[in-house]
Amino acid sequence: MPPSSARSSVEHLNVLIVGAGISGIGAARYLKTELPSKSFAILEARRASGGTWDLFRYPGIRSDSDLHTFGYEFKPWRDEQSIADAPRILDYLRQAATENGIDAHVRDHHKVLGASWSSDEARWTVEVERDDTGERTTLTCGWLFCAGGYYRYDEGFTPRFEGLDRFEGPVVHPQHWPQDLDYAGKRVVVIGSGATAVTLVPSMAGTAAHVTMLQRTPTYVMPIPRADVVANALKKYLGLRRGYALSRRKNIAQQRLVWSFCRRFPKPSGDACDSFHRWPEDMDLLAGLGFTDYRFSIEWARIEPAPGEISRAAIDHYRRMIEGAHQRGLRPLVTLHHFTTPRWFAARGSWYAEDAADRLARFAEAAAPIYADGVDHLCTVNEPNIVAALLPILAQASAGAPAKGLPEQLVSTGLPEPDAHLTEALIRAHRRAVEAPTRRTCAPAGPSPSRPVKRSRARRRSPRSTAVRARMSSWRRRATTTGSASRPTPAS
Ligand SMILES: Cc1cc2nc3c(=O)[nH]c(=O)nc-3n(C[C@H](O)[C@H](O)[C@H](O)COP(=O)(O)OP(=O)(O)OC[C@H]3O[C@@H](n4cnc5c(N)ncnc54)[C@H](O)[C@@H]3O)c2cc1C
Repeated sequence: MPPSSARSSVEHLNVLIVGAGISGIGAARYLKTELPSKSFAILEARRASGGTWDLFRYPGIRSDSDLHTFGYEFKPWRDEQSIADAPRILDYLRQAATENGIDAHVRDHHKVLGASWSSDEARWTVEVERDDTGERTTLTCGWLFCAGGYYRYDEGFTPRFEGLDRFEGPVVHPQHWPQDLDYAGKRVVVIGSGATAVTLVPSMAGTAAHVTMLQRTPTYVMPIPRADVVANALKKYLGLRRGYALSRRKNIAQQRLVWSFCRRFPKPSGDACDSFHRWPEDMDLLAGLGFTDYRFSIEWARIEPAPGEISRAAIDHYRRMIEGAHQRGLRPLVTLHHFTTPRWFAARGSWYAEDAADRLARFAEAAAPIYADGVDHLCTVNEPNIVAALLPILAQASAGAPAKGLPEQLVSTGLPEPDAHLTEALIRAHRRAVEAPTRRTCAPAGPSPSRPVKRSRARRRSPRSTAVRARMSSWRRRATTTGSASRPTPAS
């Protein structure tokens, strides 16, 4: 606190606001309108207002909130896009400051170094440094409003990465993005999977040779369209102010709903199905109950996340599962393909593609270190007949032409006939997987066709169920004509 002799020369204001970001400008606007007689100033360390939306300049920077709720209640968001990029948000904030006569109260280059409260004098003494001249000043105020944000402006949080000093490429923090950074044709790794990474990765992907997002903990992401059609319609038909007010309420209600839902069901599916991480518990339970076998599938997308790129980490993971099963006295039974395929496989025509069988064979070969030792049986394709029956319907649906009346059909007559072309493709894939070079020395392998469950005795006796049985035997016969190593495994 300055000595009392110097007190009179110290400038005093009713309110001092620290920071001219969205919070500081908002606070100033309410002060001006609701307490117009109070004197105030905004002390801003930088030479510009806008805070976060002026500081961050990485490619693709945008909000993750909709601007109907992120924006001010007193200033309608006019833009068609409610998830907006940084320049639009900055523009909006600066307009809000100008329209409300706040610019004149902002003192740029005024960095607050500290503040102390005196109960005797009922005031704050605030130490300020001008970062352009280095000059120090003292101000006092009755109310200190901290709107300085939640992170350090001079240095974004950077964890220690072992071996960083040996890395020869540029290392960039999104908070200090060099505007001349040229990443065209470069292979980039983005560390983290939060909002910044989610924005940055797609934006860089168009220019860089390859962008990898490195994730420690999965983030929950809910996709929403950039433009809010309801909000835009409300603004169009009810006028800007009323439409904006209503959209704001709508979005606040939506967010409350999502918030309550997440609180009520913090993990909607629970982690009960997380066999990838919880396999030791699963195996312990199984062994404890006296079971002797543990069947699991190795996920193709984890082993081969991109065509021809094999993850050693995933192979080691599944190998640990095999060893874990043996340690518990369980026989592991491994499935190569259990309904899911990598996205790249789906994008290249899935099982309809000419070389689908070769792709499965390549995967079988790459995954051989997992099951080459200590696995008595391998299932190549789980329930191929179900895949052949459902894939055409799913393909139709994703092409925007959902099969009409499908739910009713499934309920009344069960699954449709498997597609003949797909049936052939899956059998070819099974054979190729069995014949893959490294497979010859491995465990016997087979597909596991499924017997669709019937709902009533009447249905079981129907001619259709005879047809289903005939198809099952046909699947087994055809799949087993591939040599002595191939035999059907028990259906799941
Ligand atoms: C890339 C990015 C995207 C984001 N997207 C969203 C989103 O979509 N939705 C959401 O709710 N939040 C988002 N956030 C969080 C966002 O920072 C806040 O929501 C909001 O912008 C914070 O505003 P603020 O005014 O409180 O702080 P800031 O924007 O951080 O502004 C603080 C101001 O205070 C100044 N200051 C700091 N210390 C001092 C000091 N000692 N003396 C003087 N001045 C000082 C700074 O220079 C700055 O101008 C995002 C953050 C980032 C980094």
